[in-house]
Amino acid sequence: MCGIIGCAGVRDTVPGLIEGLRRLEYRGYDSAGIAVLNGDGLERRRVKGKVRDLAEEVRRHPIRGTCGIGHTRWATHGRPSEDNAHPHTDCSGTIALLHNGIVENYWSLKEKLLAEGHVFKTETDT
Ligand code: GLU
Repeated sequence: MCGIIGCAGVRDTVPGLIEGLRRLEYRGYDSAGIAVLNGDGLERRRVKGKVRDLAEEVRRHPIRGTCGIGHTRWATHGRPSEDNAHPHTDCSGTIALLHNGIVENYWSLKEKLLAEGHVFKTETDT
């Protein structure tokens, strides 16, 4: 079962997001990711693997932001991979989202969005 955390404040949320995901590791997962608003827009880091791998990715490619979300994924739709790891973004990269569980009617929603010209970069039901 995956885990979700969100933080909004006046300080950088990245350390809190990573620590929050660490505390949710007991729930089981195959990948992890965070997205933050940094004042200019959205930045994301995602990995297939453990929260320690995500922390290492953030150490090598730092991001900062006072508002953010994080996820540990237990794949139900689409293989465990960086591309399928949450958070996901909209086509313009201005909205990030994640979810737990299964979107039962995802295929009919996806068909509608595809017909409107949206581009999907993941295999998930998100
Ligand atoms: N169904 C979603 C996926 O496969 C979320 C799975 C979860 O709860 O982690 O990405």
